Amino acid sequence: MVMTDFFDYCCDACGAPFCERTHIMNMALGLIDVECCLPCLASQYQRTEAEMAAFCYGYVQARDCFLEPWNKFNASGCPKQPEQTCHCQQPAEVA
Ligand SMILES: [Zn+2]
Ligand SMILES: [Zn+2]
Repeated sequence: MVMTDFFDYCCDACGAPFCERTHIMNMALGLIDVECCLPCLASQYQRTEAEMAAFCYGYVQARDCFLEPWNKFNASGCPKQPEQTCHCQQPAEVA
């Protein structure tokens, strides 16, 4: 996989890079000192990655301070999107 500037963050648990929206998901969960990629979050919360993304997005939607940066970030260029291995896109089930 080609690494790009798209991933500004690194998982504190496994070192995997993740993007702005996953970072916002971490903030929505109240995680500030330690941030994790979605697969690590999902396993911590015993949810699937898709469930976890939808769960976080519920919080994001409820707060302008999360929703604003979420909407501002253009996730359409996510390099993982073609393989659908990133759940940073707007979760369809709660949109
Ligand atoms: Zn991780
Ligand atoms: Zn992404």
